[in-house]
Amino acid sequence: MSPSAALGPGASQVVGERQEALLEVDGLVVHYRITGAGKVFRKHETVHAVDGVSFDLAPRETLGLVGESGCGKSTTGRTVLYLERPTSGRVRFEGRDLSELTPGELTALRSRMQIVFQDPIGALNPRHTVGQLISEPLRVHDLVPKARRRERVEELLGLVGLPADAASRFPHEFSGGQCQRVGIARAIAAEPALLVLDEPVSSLDVSVQAQILQLLVDLQERLGLAYLFIAHDLAVVGEMSDRVAVMYLGKIVEIAERDALYARPHHPYTQALFSAVPVPDPAVRTGRDGAVVSGEVPSSLSPPPGCRFHTRCPLAQERCRAEEPSLEPVGQGHEVACHFAEAAATARPFGRLATDG
Ligand code: SF4
Repeated sequence: MSPSAALGPGASQVVGERQEALLEVDGLVVHYRITGAGKVFRKHETVHAVDGVSFDLAPRETLGLVGESGCGKSTTGRTVLYLERPTSGRVRFEGRDLSELTPGELTALRSRMQIVFQDPIGALNPRHTVGQLISEPLRVHDLVPKARRRERVEELLGLVGLPADAASRFPHEFSGGQCQRVGIARAIAAEPALLVLDEPVSSLDVSVQAQILQLLVDLQERLGLAYLFIAHDLAVVGEMSDRVAVMYLGKIVEIAERDALYARPHHPYTQALFSAVPVPDPAVRTGRDGAVVSGEVPSSLSPPPGCRFHTRCPLAQERCRAEEPSLEPVGQGHEVACHFAEAAATARPFGRLATDG
């Protein structure tokens, strides 16, 4: 069963009126200056990993961040937690500007914002037992007295669907899905308000993906978590998210409430992502007669001028090569970075969707 089929509609209901933001990201830029020459990069070149990303996230909300590999979505996820320092831009969490915090204040605040990684096995220290791994944040943030830590670890194992005796075993004794459950237990141990979920199911078997996604939905409802859900799979993102932001080459090119984006994607790149989603029954989508997105993603060492998608966009015109489009509203809470957004929404250069009728 596909994850999409296993889950109901969006994990939480944050639609219509926006709540006060838990997380505010404003003009985030992450550039890496190359300091040593190699086969891929030359010395003193700059990798433009993230280039001016802004969004907010309300308590209990899920924002999906989607795009091809290398578009900057994982870097964005790590940087909003200040696991990496941004080159410029601001991140505010629960009203506090992370750039103004001392290292001690930042460590304390990290208990409220945690991450779950893509590689569940690689993310766990193989020399530590599951009990040691899950109790580490309890110890670091001094959340539970030492005498009660074992009991709390067993509670957390129960929350993620693992038996209490898992605490005395090592990561190599578990499957990938079970290791991801351990990773989730460790992330929620610190009682966070925000989880960054960085491709949390993409390395798992399809049969296990739906179980982990359902676990995340259940935990969100039970613990009141907000999720920044990073993935390249639009079907998974659509099931999990209240809103969706589409990234291309370090920038958000479209952001909207899930239903609005999936019903009428405006940006040609968003449409291209939809056109690439596998269709189990070709009969349900008869009109996929548009172009296939061609060409490689341009190098983040030298992003194209103007619209970064112009080298692959069938609708590109002279203006696109010269002038960079900014995110502009096309509907309530729906913003698109394309000079010809309305025309693109109608033209559908990458084919029509099953929902078009
Ligand atoms: Fe295509 Fe031009 Fe829109 Fe960019 S601005 S997506 S090149 S139509």
